Amino acid sequence: MKKNWKIETQAIQSGYSPKATEPRVLPIMQSTTFKYESADHVAQLFDLDCADPMYTRIGNPTTSAFEAKIAEMEGGVGALATSSGQAATTLSILNICHAGEHVVTTTTLYGGTYSLFANTLPKLGIEVSFVDPNASADEIKKAFRPETRCLFGETIGNPGLNVLDFEKFAAVAKEMDVPLIIDNTFPTPFLCRPLEHGANIVMHSTTKYIDGHATSVGGVIIDGGTFNWDNGKFATMTEPDSSYHGLKYIEKFGEMAYIVKARVQLMRDLGATPSPFNSFMFNLGAETLPLRMERHSQNALAVAKHLEAHPSVSWVNYPGLESHPSYALTQKYLPKGASGVLTFGIKGGRDAGITFMESCQLIALVVHVGDARSCVLHPGSTTHRQLSEAQQVACGVSPDLIRLSIGIENIDDILADIDQALAASQE
Ligand SMILES: *Cc1c(COP(=O)(O)O)cnc(C)c1O
Repeated sequence: MKKNWKIETQAIQSGYSPKATEPRVLPIMQSTTFKYESADHVAQLFDLDCADPMYTRIGNPTTSAFEAKIAEMEGGVGALATSSGQAATTLSILNICHAGEHVVTTTTLYGGTYSLFANTLPKLGIEVSFVDPNASADEIKKAFRPETRCLFGETIGNPGLNVLDFEKFAAVAKEMDVPLIIDNTFPTPFLCRPLEHGANIVMHSTTKYIDGHATSVGGVIIDGGTFNWDNGKFATMTEPDSSYHGLKYIEKFGEMAYIVKARVQLMRDLGATPSPFNSFMFNLGAETLPLRMERHSQNALAVAKHLEAHPSVSWVNYPGLESHPSYALTQKYLPKGASGVLTFGIKGGRDAGITFMESCQLIALVVHVGDARSCVLHPGSTTHRQLSEAQQVACGVSPDLIRLSIGIENIDDILADIDQALAASQE
């Protein structure tokens, strides 16, 4: 029955269904551990013969309810919540890619993801090749090696805001026989479900729209259950795991093999666990996600159109604008809206940009996106400052670029604030 629910209903109802006299609202199970009656029950837990909660590092009922909800909303078979979006990206890769192996990714990435791929994964012996998302399928294939284990991309690149050509990337991943892992943070499952477009694994920084109120840092990985791990490339998925008496993940867990292994191996050993309280916040945020994403998208489109007609603005980058190079892809993959983030170039460059940011009153200067409150940022001097200028340009960041994350306030108030700040920036 649940399978037939639309996403607005899943957002409210999925993941937790109380029995008589139990709390109507998902409780915060702020407990590290859980009580059992028999040694046999505990043995079953440790042998992975039973999915009851064991220890909050590996699973917690509040977190499980949020995971079940988000898995349904994305159309996956299971999910694993993490302590941050960075942890979700890291675990999504480490689960199938080891020292001596290789990742292919697009260049247009969130700054933290770029840094993880360019600096930290190589230190662990995992090499990463970056490809232009506009490259042809043949050029993307050239980046592959025999030891490549996944293809990575963002549905909407942050902060370049290019929409991923799923058809092209899914076809390349399929031909090269590796999973396509997608960071779907900006659209959320309300605006786009990458699993329906050929992705195998989806991850989010739940810190952004899923929380939606800037209260908690978190992440989640969702397994589509569609990838055939038994293709000779993923020994840790098919060969015995000596840390669990030699069990084989694909044999024991079938389509859930990837997400179970991420939990019982990586979360057990690396411990990037969300707190039950934060899982409660993400679950609460998810309840209103469809409504908020609709308003974020409407407001951002209105701001983009307003800026496009404004004399103090040299360019506007929003995938929902007809002038955007990704517009055809937006219509194909984001028909309900292009989310709340846009960038624009201010006349007067870097200095005007800084004055604009400092003149905003309603729109706050914060290092964040996806909040119900509107936010402004100059990435070149903040989130992307640790990258060289060439790396910045490869990520789509120019010196005059201002990023706005449009909130769900009344559009008239947002536009009035932008207009007065633009006027101040040109003085
Ligand atoms: C913020 C963000 C991340 C990292 O998430 P954290 O929760 O901050 O660790 C990853 N990808 C995208 C697209 C993001 O916006």
